[in-house]
Amino acid sequence: MHLARFPRIALGHFPTPLEKLENLTRALGGPNIYIKRDDCTGLATGGNKTRKLEFLVAEAIAQGADTLVTQGATQSNHVRQTAAAARKVGMTCHALLERRVGNMGDGYETGGNVLFDDLLKCHYEFRPDGVDMNAEALALTEALREKGRNPYFIPGGGSNTIGALGYVHAAQELVYQADTSGLKIDKIVHATGSAGTQAGILAGLFAMSTPIDVIGISVRAKRDAQIANVHKLAVATADMIGARGELPVETVEAYDEYVGPGYGQPTDSMVDAISMLAAEEGIFLDPVYSGKGMAGMIGLINQGVLKKGENVVFVHTGGAAALPAYEHLFTKQQRA
Ligand SMILES: *Cc1c(COP(=O)(O)O)cnc(C)c1O
Repeated sequence: MHLARFPRIALGHFPTPLEKLENLTRALGGPNIYIKRDDCTGLATGGNKTRKLEFLVAEAIAQGADTLVTQGATQSNHVRQTAAAARKVGMTCHALLERRVGNMGDGYETGGNVLFDDLLKCHYEFRPDGVDMNAEALALTEALREKGRNPYFIPGGGSNTIGALGYVHAAQELVYQADTSGLKIDKIVHATGSAGTQAGILAGLFAMSTPIDVIGISVRAKRDAQIANVHKLAVATADMIGARGELPVETVEAYDEYVGPGYGQPTDSMVDAISMLAAEEGIFLDPVYSGKGMAGMIGLINQGVLKKGENVVFVHTGGAAALPAYEHLFTKQQRA
């Protein structure tokens, strides 16, 4: 594989650090825990979408686009990073925000990522829960084209083969960091949603013939559906980067035990995981993705799936920009 074959622009700060979490490792008494700081990608508070956007926005520029169109849930980190990328390259961002998460606090539709969307001059409109958001965003793309714009459509989460190249790049970067520091990685754990992150990492590892287990902690879909989504995108991405052979479905691992009542709905284990990482390491996770991802990793350590002596890398995919919109979950906890 040779990623320079694909257009890419610089939007973030790379490589992101790979660090050992000494305090968390000690507190949990299981495997050696490392963290890949993709919350520090640098674009408007960072996160995993920045890597994807380096390839997606490069394609938009190559097509002469003046507008980026995308969609996400109200507190979407992807929309916030896409809006920032648009500002950086002199484009306009139009986004649709799905009211996917009910029963949230007062600041849910104005604070956190939505505040940042405002600052980034993102043109956003809300949509009700349950509509086909990619279809809505495609319809908006066509409407903008009819008005004389040249829009470039980015699917939810930036998860197509072009976006997944960002995580092929991350897999290369991580393996290089591990090799140069003498770290043998046994397992990688991260939150998985629209599938591009896990698919890109798996395609990258497959192309490098580097079998490291990649465990996705689902934040929305059931296990079988998530495995199918990730596998489909991983196969297409691996083909695009010229990997030989078909990426086996057995290499795709996902757990759905940490979703709780649904996407964006709080769980006790998520609140505990966020509180623990902040207290032990001074690092912020988020309630929708990385908090549930960390809850999953802690759960798998407690179940003995991740064992003492193993080296586990948690990919911190970002999201803490959403934390203030979920203040009510934590004020209760702090006062308890
Ligand atoms: C989007 C997102 C994820 C999930 O990544 P996918 O590529 O959509 O699976 C994880 N964490 C955070 C903070 C995100 O914003």
